[in-house]
Amino acid sequence: MKAMVLNEICNLEENKNPLEMSDVPDPVPGQKEILVKVSACGVCHTELDEIEGRTPPPKFPIILGHEIVGRVVKTGSNAGKFNIGDRVGIGWIYSACQGCRFCLESNENLCENFRATGRDANGGYAEYTKVIEDFAYKIPDVFSDSEAAPLLCAGAIGYRSLRLTGIKDGQNLGLTGFGASAHLVLKMVRHKYPQSNVFVFARSKKEREFAQELGAVWAGDTDEESPEKLDCIIDTTPVWKPIVEALKNLVAGGRLVINAIRKEDVDKEYLVRLNYPTHLWLEKEIKSVANVERRDISEFLELAATIPIKPEVEEFTLEEANKALLELKERKIRGAKVLKIHL
Ligand SMILES: [Zn+2]
Ligand SMILES: [Zn+2]
Repeated sequence: MKAMVLNEICNLEENKNPLEMSDVPDPVPGQKEILVKVSACGVCHTELDEIEGRTPPPKFPIILGHEIVGRVVKTGSNAGKFNIGDRVGIGWIYSACQGCRFCLESNENLCENFRATGRDANGGYAEYTKVIEDFAYKIPDVFSDSEAAPLLCAGAIGYRSLRLTGIKDGQNLGLTGFGASAHLVLKMVRHKYPQSNVFVFARSKKEREFAQELGAVWAGDTDEESPEKLDCIIDTTPVWKPIVEALKNLVAGGRLVINAIRKEDVDKEYLVRLNYPTHLWLEKEIKSVANVERRDISEFLELAATIPIKPEVEEFTLEEANKALLELKERKIRGAKVLKIHL
């Protein structure tokens, strides 16, 4: 089969074509696995982190891609969950041990044997891929293949962040940073917690206006004080200032959830402004989000279909994967980028 393959870690500034079109053997599904003919695969920021070595694949060559939509073309001898022709999705969680404490308490993304699609196992920048059937999801009919692909990542992580806030209907939620993931969260909250008010903190006026159009009751700059105290806040920024500033707006016992895989060091000195009585005292909590487990993906897909949430997508061919990645790196973003592989 044809696949776009990563052979080594590289610097995207120097090498604009990190992936190489290659002919590789077709994957063969094991007993509990399914073989999937890939129709669409989303292009995610995490691929940049893999290529540039911030979350490096343990072995090469590797096929990237973890927002996969395709159809089942073959099932293993012991796999019976899907039929040939069924449309399925695959996300970042490729497998976990299913027996440890974390797996059993529904935190399988924290499992020591967590394996990621497109990093620890071959992913979706290819004509075919395979996965354990229990780690594939049915895709609701309302979505096209390309629309469903980006939902498998940003949307599902947004959903987990919201779940980790512990919010109850009627409580105030703050969102600091208002990019792709946060605006999906706002749509989810409006549907799932209709009595809750959402307060948005964003640097750009355009983002603040957009937030209010989508139903935020208030929008202000990153360091402003919200007109009411907030029961929980989700941070989706890559830096530290928004965290320090957000904490002062929490109610006693409130929780800040940081939805970021890594934070940048550019404004780390802002942390010295952390003032214990203002920002942390009165049992305020800070929690980070690691990534997703299966439950987040399947619950979010259902919720997205009901609302409905449909992402805007920009399609590329498999051969254009390098171009799509470079545009993502250069922040040329018009909707979520998706590789269209089989029609
Ligand atoms: Zn992703
Ligand atoms: Zn486990």
